[in-house]
Amino acid sequence: MAVLIDLTDVSVVDNHCHALEADQVADVPRWRQLFTESPDPSMRAHDVAETAFYRRLIRAMGMHFGVAGGEASVLEARAALTTEELVSSMFRDAAIGAVVIDTGYPAPDKAMSAAQFRSLSRAQYAALLRLEVIFQQLIAEHTTYDDLLGAAREQLAGARRAGFVGFKSVVAYRTGLSIERWSVDEARTSFARAREEVERSGAVRLGYKPLLDTLLHLAFEIAAADGLPVQFHVGYGDPDADLRTASPLELRNVLEERAYRSMPVVLLHGCWPYVREGAYLAAVYANAYLDVSYAIPFLSRGEMLAMTRAALAAAPFTKLMYSSDGARVPELHWLGAHDGRRALSAALGELVADGDLDVDEARGAGERILQGNALRLYGFGDESPS
Ligand SMILES: [Zn+2]
Repeated sequence: MAVLIDLTDVSVVDNHCHALEADQVADVPRWRQLFTESPDPSMRAHDVAETAFYRRLIRAMGMHFGVAGGEASVLEARAALTTEELVSSMFRDAAIGAVVIDTGYPAPDKAMSAAQFRSLSRAQYAALLRLEVIFQQLIAEHTTYDDLLGAAREQLAGARRAGFVGFKSVVAYRTGLSIERWSVDEARTSFARAREEVERSGAVRLGYKPLLDTLLHLAFEIAAADGLPVQFHVGYGDPDADLRTASPLELRNVLEERAYRSMPVVLLHGCWPYVREGAYLAAVYANAYLDVSYAIPFLSRGEMLAMTRAALAAAPFTKLMYSSDGARVPELHWLGAHDGRRALSAALGELVADGDLDVDEARGAGERILQGNALRLYGFGDESPS
């Protein structure tokens, strides 16, 4: 018999999401391209609207705004609201109690200010430092390798004092998750090539593996010393990611490193489609956590349930955390919270029906995954978010 574990009263800690854009005006073309990772113009204009995710989103928005009809009438109802009304109503409706924001995307000149986001969302707010963004800035600013290392060490060591609760890395879509050790000569040569790019174009996109790996090791030493969590983009989530090398198993070097055992490693996006591999790592390594993300990747409800089932099947309930990975528009944070609670209710209910858990144990696991684990890991304190 189907059992549902009611989690509707549990406010979520969205442990991986992004800022909203200050400008929420969206016509159909601009709106659609928010819901695909494809860089292809025809995918962004047309095929994106023919997914299970997109159809569900439009239907859910229609119910929220109280309008019948499809995309056009839903976007018309959306456009009738001010940004303030839109954001505050969606965060309240989804009961999002706290957010952990990756400050690396969207770009600061497009993003709503942290102060405005906090006041409209009424969520507790914590920020992560995106490592590759900092590294790229520092490479552009420093002409010698030694100066670069000194500046990187200083900035990262000051991160906690500056208010950041962790680091985020997108190495998966730069040079891959298989982070290696390089000799000083190799790292210096790599730096020289990165500097050539700076001289040519004024900036650098950090695709120089010996240099990036070396800077990441520096960040991990500091994170381990300060007990700062490091989030890794894993699997789906960016067109630059080479999915052939984006499995979380590629992180073995980092997870095996004894010196990094005090650095919590958060594997993002449920590692989808590598969710079983992610659950395995969270079951084996004390410092590995699996983030189960419900707005991005853009999935059907059935696949979200399958992802949740795989996560719960192997990983301890202390090692799983909810997120939306929402960015730019509040609809992603909002729909993710509703869909995440729903998938978790159903998957925990299955564990009860199968005799794995009793109802109280299932409810406790749900509270931890939606809220408690992230509150503890990112140091929000013991108090529940309002
Ligand atoms: Zn993200």
